[in-house]
Amino acid sequence: MSNILNFRLISENKLYRRAVLGMMALLMSVGVGVATAQPSEAGWLDLIFSGVRVYQLSNMSDSQEVSLGKDINAQLVRSGQIKLYKDAALNTYVNDIGQALAGASDRPNIPYTFQIVEDDAVNAFATMGGYVYVTTGLIEAADTEAELAGVIGHEIGHIGERHAVQQMRQAAIAQGVTGAIDVGQNRERLINIGTQLAWQLPNSRQAEYEADAAGFETMGRVGYDQEGMVNFMQKLVRRGSPPEFLSTHPDARNRVTSLQERLETEATPSATYGMNSSAYSSNIAPLR
Ligand SMILES: [Zn+2]
Repeated sequence: MSNILNFRLISENKLYRRAVLGMMALLMSVGVGVATAQPSEAGWLDLIFSGVRVYQLSNMSDSQEVSLGKDINAQLVRSGQIKLYKDAALNTYVNDIGQALAGASDRPNIPYTFQIVEDDAVNAFATMGGYVYVTTGLIEAADTEAELAGVIGHEIGHIGERHAVQQMRQAAIAQGVTGAIDVGQNRERLINIGTQLAWQLPNSRQAEYEADAAGFETMGRVGYDQEGMVNFMQKLVRRGSPPEFLSTHPDARNRVTSLQERLETEATPSATYGMNSSAYSSNIAPLR
């Protein structure tokens, strides 16, 4: 879902359509001054979603990634694309869950920032450099802390796998940028690309499976009952994701099945925390 079940599960439906418009806007707004011909619309979408081409970009360091993520976050907020939900108690609650998961993740050595977006849509997303967002709608849709932890773990998984960086490379290719991108010289362009990608472009299916697996494992290490992650995804699929979502992402159910199998074969036996729904309900009281 950059998309859990992408926990962008629910959001992917809308995102998929918006991605086309978003990327077109991106092409126009970023204004690439490169002489090479830009791929046609179909062409660059193919490039983005197929992920076949790997951009030969010098490796972005952790500090560069964190610094870019900080600017992308600032632009997301400043531009009004997202509105942060400010309740201190709820932010502390979400941040505590997130920090515990981040510390147990495969990439614990960068700073993480967890924020709540005021939006009724069930959505979560991440951008590079440790920035994770969950909507008020998603927090309300979850019934237990373990369910919420599964989503956050999934998004941390995207960061651990550097999916946003990969998306950025692919978007740069799609814009006809060839050769190495210098992070310093192209900073503004990269921030613009990253801002669009964070909010509008779904991750690839492979990226979603990777983030599911990483999130599942991470929450188990912290002690969260991994059944929570499976429960929540099932619930989102069952309650009727918009048809576009299911038609454009027919693997949503497959992802649930895959997680169910993982639960049966690889669950951490000692991980049983976070299944008390009344405790969760009182923790998210500001939304109720
Ligand atoms: Zn995802």
